[in-house]
Amino acid sequence: MKNKKNYELIWEDCLKIIKDNISLQSFKTWFEPIVPIRFKSKVLTLQVPSHFFYEWLEEHYIDLLKKVIKKEIGADAKLEYSIIMDKSVDKKTPYTVNLPTSSKKNLSNTPVSMPLNIGENPIRNPFVIPGLKKVNVDSNLNPTYSFDNFVEGDCNRLARSAAFAVSNKPGGTAFNPLLVYGGVGLGKTHLAHAIGIGIKNQFPNKTVLYTQAETFTRQFIDSIKNNTTNDFINFYKLMDVLIIDDVQFFAGKEKTQDAFFHIFNHLHQTGKQLVLTADKAPVEMKGIEQRLLSRFKWGLSADVQPPGLETRIAILEKKIYGNGVNLPADVLEYLAYSINTNIREMEGALTSLIAQGSLNKKSITIELAKKMIDKFVKNTAREVSMDYIHKIVCDYFNLPIELLKSKTRKREVVQARQIAMYFAKKMTKWSLASIGAQCGGKDHATVLHACRTVNNLAETDKQFRGYLEDLEKKLNVN
Ligand code: ADP
Ligand code: MG
Repeated sequence: MKNKKNYELIWEDCLKIIKDNISLQSFKTWFEPIVPIRFKSKVLTLQVPSHFFYEWLEEHYIDLLKKVIKKEIGADAKLEYSIIMDKSVDKKTPYTVNLPTSSKKNLSNTPVSMPLNIGENPIRNPFVIPGLKKVNVDSNLNPTYSFDNFVEGDCNRLARSAAFAVSNKPGGTAFNPLLVYGGVGLGKTHLAHAIGIGIKNQFPNKTVLYTQAETFTRQFIDSIKNNTTNDFINFYKLMDVLIIDDVQFFAGKEKTQDAFFHIFNHLHQTGKQLVLTADKAPVEMKGIEQRLLSRFKWGLSADVQPPGLETRIAILEKKIYGNGVNLPADVLEYLAYSINTNIREMEGALTSLIAQGSLNKKSITIELAKKMIDKFVKNTAREVSMDYIHKIVCDYFNLPIELLKSKTRKREVVQARQIAMYFAKKMTKWSLASIGAQCGGKDHATVLHACRTVNNLAETDKQFRGYLEDLEKKLNVN
């Protein structure tokens, strides 16, 4: 008798429960073709015959599936699909992609009651208390911007944990309002949605609204035109959780700030949660009234910074995993190395790369990546990053990067480090001091000395000059 693997046994037990809960016909159609293929670190991987099949399961059976694996494996169990792709190009080996389960929980709000006759077209509903009407509030939440899809790093740790705390206890933490601020494309909007999604998942009855300061402003101006400013303000006062993105947009718009001020006070006093994002810290905001600014500071202001290399790689990995694609590690690293300030840009490059690869049926190689990224970031004044210089130099001399960043004075390390400093000086806008800090904690004089040494050697030593030329070629990806 064949020895059954543990995942086969687990899946058999799951099937028993599933069978009891759905019709035999559905069971035969949708569950018999599934093959369990792996169970590792609490993730059960199921192979399904097609993408359509996967979508159908997610759409119709995900709740059942989740309940069952939770029961069989435990609360932290996860499910993953491996999909056999139709092979039009090469029929020999079926290739598969892995996809995590999504959690498309219901993000919509239950209708809230509002005094009658204050909306544009009051809906008469015999079941509501006279004088009130039900309004539907669209939460505007985007399910892909969840905490699950957000990579935590040193760059965003405080903001993320505060956001997480708020989502578990809206209105019940000291972080009210929670203001997340920082540069473009660093995850503020993502976190803002994640809070809303987290709250809707745990407290489905809370009315959550995500909106952009720009939309808020536009609605407010319309309400003045239509003489419905009271309705506008009353509407916002109904929220349990109000998330306003990019509040810097309120700058210079005094009337809008006024309206927001009243809404803010009402919500805050009644223990409702406010979440705000902005492109800079409150102290640096211009054109916002003092009384509003001081309220922004009542709770917690947490910043998001550009992510370090590891976090960038982790974000890309998460993204391709979510898309069910496979990319060679060197391509991924190259992407992470060369786009280092803006995550949105990095994702954009990744998406075009995947599209390129699949359109032309080309495999995605580092050469393709280089060409693509050059096109992609040409306009954004790309500059070689220190990380990339370190990597190229270390690869070239076959040294671990840690050594180069360490204080060691071993001869070959010292020389590699000097070369890295030389290229950093030549190819980036970093100050001497900051180049030194990134190369083993040296001071600016050491960097200056390194540059001189490298220049001198280049003039006298032919082999050394060869090294520099090679490296320069590698670093100059254009
Ligand atoms: P911002 O609002 O700060 O300009 P966004 O929230 O729109 O930036 O983020 C830009 C893109 O980068 C989004 O697609 C978002 O999902 C992604 N992103 C940003 N930070 C992270 C992170 N830490 N983990 C995963 N994705 C991220
Ligand atoms: Mg944003």
